[in-house]
Amino acid sequence: MHKSSNQASRLALLSIVALAFVLAAARLPYVQSAPSPVKSFVIRSVRVFDGEKLLPAVDVSVKNGFIKAVGKNLKVAAGTKEVDGAGDTLLPGLIDSHDHVWGDALKQALIFGVTTELDMFSDPKFDADVRTREASGQNLDAADLRSSGTLVTVEKGHGTEYGIKIPTLASSAEAQTFVDARLAEGSDYIKIIYDDGHAYGINFPTVTKEELTAVIAAAHKRHKLAVVHIGSQAGARDAIEAGADGLAHILEDDPPAPGFAQLAKEHHVFVVATLTVNESVASKASGESLVSDPHLSAYLNAGAAGNLKRSFPSHPGSKVNFANALAAVRALHSADVPVLAGTDAPNPGTTHGASIHRELELLVQAGLSPAEALTAATSGPAKAFALSDRGRIAPGLRADLLLVKGDPTQDVTATRDIVAVWKTGVEADRIAYRAAVAKEKEQEAATRGAPAPAGSESGLISNFDDGTTDAKFGAGWSVSTDSIAGGKSTAEMKLKHGGANGSKGALQITGTISDALPYAWAGAMFSPGPAPFAPANLSGKKTLRFWARGDSRTYRVMIFTTSGGRIPAMKNFSVGSEWKEVSMPFSDFVGTDGHDVMAILFCASTEAGPFQFAIDDVRLE
Ligand SMILES: [Zn+2]
Repeated sequence: MHKSSNQASRLALLSIVALAFVLAAARLPYVQSAPSPVKSFVIRSVRVFDGEKLLPAVDVSVKNGFIKAVGKNLKVAAGTKEVDGAGDTLLPGLIDSHDHVWGDALKQALIFGVTTELDMFSDPKFDADVRTREASGQNLDAADLRSSGTLVTVEKGHGTEYGIKIPTLASSAEAQTFVDARLAEGSDYIKIIYDDGHAYGINFPTVTKEELTAVIAAAHKRHKLAVVHIGSQAGARDAIEAGADGLAHILEDDPPAPGFAQLAKEHHVFVVATLTVNESVASKASGESLVSDPHLSAYLNAGAAGNLKRSFPSHPGSKVNFANALAAVRALHSADVPVLAGTDAPNPGTTHGASIHRELELLVQAGLSPAEALTAATSGPAKAFALSDRGRIAPGLRADLLLVKGDPTQDVTATRDIVAVWKTGVEADRIAYRAAVAKEKEQEAATRGAPAPAGSESGLISNFDDGTTDAKFGAGWSVSTDSIAGGKSTAEMKLKHGGANGSKGALQITGTISDALPYAWAGAMFSPGPAPFAPANLSGKKTLRFWARGDSRTYRVMIFTTSGGRIPAMKNFSVGSEWKEVSMPFSDFVGTDGHDVMAILFCASTEAGPFQFAIDDVRLE
């Protein structure tokens, strides 16, 4: 979905940076269980939603990760693990048809019953790494991934605003080359942005209809699906006419016009509704009710819960009205257009895994029956994306399974009352995950109650006037670069004579941003806690203030907090050759009240080449 402002920019793609830190610190929330897990078992007397319809109580047997048989009184080998499914419902593992995957997203998704994520824009290198691990059987504790990799957009178009450098399309003449480059990177399908922002009251460039048509044709030439992000009804019509296989998002700028659903039907498109993010775009935090749901809350870490309670800011001139989105889904569904469940996690109001349960609820609100909503998250996407090995419960298919209490074909919210989740026959360790979340919450509570770091009373971090680069509190300053994530950017910092306002010294930071990573960074990091990345309670302060001068490029402050799920909040600043004071209220860093700050990073990023800047009189007020 379209994003703008600081709020959005801290999200989604920036979690790549967080990933780098997470990897470097090896702080994955839980560890894969047994090395050779059980992949064969039988579930007895269980109600089965097979991806299309409800079967009366039957047995389902699984052998070596695949469904072996579905029927009454199945005979299995002696010693086979038995699961009593009486009163419960077994469903195919859920498929989320629109999300953005980085960091631990796939692990989190699996815990909530999502066994396949169809990513609609992420880092192709991350995707490649997941594919490698998947192929060697190492990804058993995480959802399976299909991805568009880098999306297709124009310079300064939607998708370029996250501080990550991506290739952009310049003309329809290069459509085939552009698409082929994505496929060479491993894209499973092509995702195109066709949205100029007008529906939300803002403005950015987008591909022309001619370019859109050319890119779709280029994808089709390679027998790949083309999925088009749309933001308005006019955009949706254009995309359908241009030959899109599917639409990502549902329009919400106008009520669906008579004939809109019919147009979609005639062109055989599917529509990934993403109602949960559409609702959040309409400034209602769609995921808020999930946070207090007793079946989900113990599995939601602070970062996930925080994000579920967010929504997008609204802009003057926005035409967004969630009722239009519901009406459009209703019209499409009535016209027999396949509607698929997608969350667009981790955008504001959503989180991986848990949000699919809200999406199902909203699809029912739009007029689908509970069983139809479940189809939209199982056999529907499997069919639309040609994933013939999953999405249904039938012999020979992957044992991607979700066992829940009650009957979600009666009350769709029953999908939240999860008994067990299996990916290719391996049960997800929900107990360990829950324990890890509980531990994280305990630490979070402890940080919230912690005193401010000793020495932070005056608010001064460093004025660099004592002949050193020391800080008045915390673990001090250190160089941070993307080298910990495999990048090639470099930085060094040193004391410089002559600071702001005629003071003695400043901190000089020089280096080079490499283009080896799309999310390159290099700079100087201040750790306010007793050790690097140990959280400190700075909530007594409201504003970060410092003086800076530099070479006129754009620099960035990133604040890492534990409640941010280790996704940094960021804000840019530009400085020229004259010293200038920069003031950044914590409230500008969405989600940061300062009680759990792990690090404050002053860096150059994205734009390749050498850089130099200096900071001085860095303080909190
Ligand atoms: Zn998206």
